[in-house]
Amino acid sequence: MYFVSTRGEEKVTAPEAIVRGMANGGGLFVPEKFPQVTGEELEEMLSFDYPERAAYLLGKYFDEYEREGLTAALRAAYSKFEGDDPAPLVRMDNGMYILELFHGPTCAFKDMALGVLPYLLREGCSFLGIREKVLILAATSGDTGKAALEAFAGEEGVKIAVFYPEDGVSKMQKLQMSTQDGENVDVVAVRGNFDDCQNGVKKIFRSEKCNAAIKEKGYLLTSANSINIGRLIPQVCYYFSAYLDLVSANQIKMGEKVDFCVPTGNFGNILAGYYAKRMGLPVGTLLCASNKNNVLSDFFRTGKYDSKRPFYPTMSPSMDILISSNLERLVFEASGRDPSLTAERMKMLSTTGRYALRSEEISALQSQFYASFASEDDTVECIYEFFEEYGYPMDTHTGVAMDVAQKYLQKVEEDTMSEKRPMVVLSTASPYKCPQDVLYALTGNDVKDSFKGVKRIHLLTAMKVPEAIKSVRYKPIRFKTTLSPDKMFDEIKKFLG
Ligand SMILES: *Cc1c(COP(=O)(O)O)cnc(C)c1O
Repeated sequence: MYFVSTRGEEKVTAPEAIVRGMANGGGLFVPEKFPQVTGEELEEMLSFDYPERAAYLLGKYFDEYEREGLTAALRAAYSKFEGDDPAPLVRMDNGMYILELFHGPTCAFKDMALGVLPYLLREGCSFLGIREKVLILAATSGDTGKAALEAFAGEEGVKIAVFYPEDGVSKMQKLQMSTQDGENVDVVAVRGNFDDCQNGVKKIFRSEKCNAAIKEKGYLLTSANSINIGRLIPQVCYYFSAYLDLVSANQIKMGEKVDFCVPTGNFGNILAGYYAKRMGLPVGTLLCASNKNNVLSDFFRTGKYDSKRPFYPTMSPSMDILISSNLERLVFEASGRDPSLTAERMKMLSTTGRYALRSEEISALQSQFYASFASEDDTVECIYEFFEEYGYPMDTHTGVAMDVAQKYLQKVEEDTMSEKRPMVVLSTASPYKCPQDVLYALTGNDVKDSFKGVKRIHLLTAMKVPEAIKSVRYKPIRFKTTLSPDKMFDEIKKFLG
């Protein structure tokens, strides 16, 4: 399978797309076409466990990689998860399903893909005969950073630097990152929001001067963000696996359509659901749930992307994003895969902060996606009520998605033309990752200390506290640097030595 750029006439192999992370001129790599999964293949996959299902699906995109190697790498990655199933599906008493993607080593869904990225990168380099060491840069709204650090810490021939917005992550997320072990890691706070971090990283990627300076130090630059196709494709697998689990548990018949509701920020997770649908998975509507930073719900309503608006820090910080990078891949599909039109739109976005789709493009997207948002109050109320009614505690990001899913089901209920389908809500983080906000939602109580929050949530819900959360409590803080965005490259030079 080849990969093409959303913005130009490039065509590369999977190892090259993964190792480079980004195409020329800021474009993103996308599969040349969507590999298909037939009904028979779905039947066959029913008996597979998660790593086998994932290896089977990844193999369709990354055919240079051997299936056994992939299976072994995936098995190793998911062996670090708590419990036997890395992506369990939980049925709620109201008939909804929650897909728990937070049982990995950093308690957020980013572990699902980042656990296997080191293997994809290592093998990719060896296919391409690359001898240089690799420098990974990641901008993070909190969870990618920690998951990438955990995945690459101690990895031979790799250095990784993570940039996060100084005040844009939860205390627990900050603590998880700043206590990270490993001699090959660097963690830096940036004065600004996530978009400033992401733009800073993208600028370094695009700058010939920076690339040359990095090369001179013997490193090749790549990305662990969901702009890297090696991050995105592993996320396709849990949509398939959740579907197969529903069939196995006799909740649906094979071929029946299912809706998925996804708490969305950079549009990587939900895009993977769209890819799954394009591969033939029976998906009905994809629900794009935003928080108060509702640039995406406006986009799906109007066809106009407008990032020029106030930025609100919320209790779901991993979704506090105004420039949603992976939307470019969807816009590319909507344009009929037109790289020059996509390049033009992305240029508009970077110069004016805005771009617009043609009306037929947006109506085609509206038939596949439903987008809405939850205010802070909606989120708190949803978390509270869900725990009261069903005894199920969820984190703030999942709370946003659950609120939007309920709004959608309400709408379907009222509209006799709409079809009611089984609903799977993706749960992207453990409630212990933003303990103060979750405790506030559950009880109305504020606590200053994260671990007090953890303890109170545990007493209230009896939900097990993950090792990953317990272990950061007594670890020394290793990283204290805070910089302005224009100093990011200086930090990298220092880090490379
Ligand atoms: C990253 C993240 C999101 C947003 O996912 P995208 O792929 O960026 O849309 C939602 N919730 C949590 C907990 C996250 O870490």
